[in-house]
Amino acid sequence: MLKNRDLPFATPEGQASKDLVWKGQTYFTPNYKPREMILDHGKGARLWDMDDNEYVDFGAGIAVCSLGHQDEDLLEALQKQSRKLWHTSNIFFTEPSIRLAEALVEAVPFAKRVYFCNSGAEANEAAIKLIRKWATSQGRAPQQREIITFAGSFHGRTLATVTATAQPKYQQGFEPLPAGFVYCPAFNDMEALASCITENTCAILAEPVQGEGGVIPARPGFLQEIRALCDERGLLLAYDEIQCGMGRTGALFAHMTEGAAPDIMTIAKALGGGLPIGAMLAGEKVAEIFDFGSHGSTFGGNPVMCAVALAALEKINSPALLAHVAAMEQHLRKGLEAISAETEMFSGIRGKGLMIGAPLVQDFCGKSGAISELCRRFGVLVLVAGPDVLRFVPPLTITPDEIDDGLTRLKAALTYARAHPESL
Ligand SMILES: *Cc1c(COP(=O)(O)O)cnc(C)c1O
Repeated sequence: MLKNRDLPFATPEGQASKDLVWKGQTYFTPNYKPREMILDHGKGARLWDMDDNEYVDFGAGIAVCSLGHQDEDLLEALQKQSRKLWHTSNIFFTEPSIRLAEALVEAVPFAKRVYFCNSGAEANEAAIKLIRKWATSQGRAPQQREIITFAGSFHGRTLATVTATAQPKYQQGFEPLPAGFVYCPAFNDMEALASCITENTCAILAEPVQGEGGVIPARPGFLQEIRALCDERGLLLAYDEIQCGMGRTGALFAHMTEGAAPDIMTIAKALGGGLPIGAMLAGEKVAEIFDFGSHGSTFGGNPVMCAVALAALEKINSPALLAHVAAMEQHLRKGLEAISAETEMFSGIRGKGLMIGAPLVQDFCGKSGAISELCRRFGVLVLVAGPDVLRFVPPLTITPDEIDDGLTRLKAALTYARAHPESL
């Protein structure tokens, strides 16, 4: 069944996918480099390509498919709503978006109001605009509306959000970049943060667990310290929980175990269970800062997306599911630590819940992309978080058996990489 595993370096693709892969490489703008196979269908935490090779999914479409593939409840919500109404625009109310907004406000103690959009970057755009509008309402001049973000952060690819992203590699070549962002040179460092604040600062934007930057959780107490600093200096605090939210860390939202609520929170990725939807949640201070006409989106709050997202939220926000995340974290960590000890490929295992990073040892730094491609050939899909870290964000519903299968394949791939470093 697992042809890839037997022949790691034979081209596993059959003719059907080969033709399509060629077309994909021909017709898309070349800003992605997809693996040379075509994923065709999935179930739970497993996927199959067009040539019937099976994969264990430790990536979940980049932390999106948190309930796995083909979840029956999401399917039912999708089918039900898709037979009623697809789209109205925000000129009209529809039931699914109202129900979802109500459920989010009820589930998130600080949140008073919700704005819906279609992606993470759009949610952060909304947050940036809301922060600036709030600063305006405070009588702050344009140069006094600066937002501080952290080294290693990732906030999206639009011009404003890529500027908020404090990593030059995402920005280079796209200048001129919008003004108004200041980068704190070190995440988890209060001294560095305090020294960035001037009378021009109006807000701090942080990921409670940095994702793309290498899977780095805020150290215990850090969010509380930021919250206190914001209160003392009259700044807004915004969390980007686009990746770490929606049960990923074992809490509904990652900040909830830290006792430090924000004024604004952005979510997306797993919110729609695989469909595109984003949201910005606004607390007391900013809930009514956007007035009529301030901001908008044609598709935001689309009834089909919202119906599925509501089903996803109800499923994820259950004690049983969140307890499962904690149990599977232990299972996956133990397995990764054993593999790390045997293959000596990782310098540690870090992260929170089912958001786990495995930094590569020195010899393999810069090779995360090649190693994740090798893993794919061995039948397990893993992500990278920068050139030096493998990232594991499986469906939250993954079973111990699926984890064990994935780990067996991962170990085979890493053992191969260790023995044949020249092949990477
Ligand atoms: C993925 C991600 C984004 C961007 O989301 P898109 O839906 O790709 O625009 C922003 N912030 C974080 C933390 C993310 O992980």
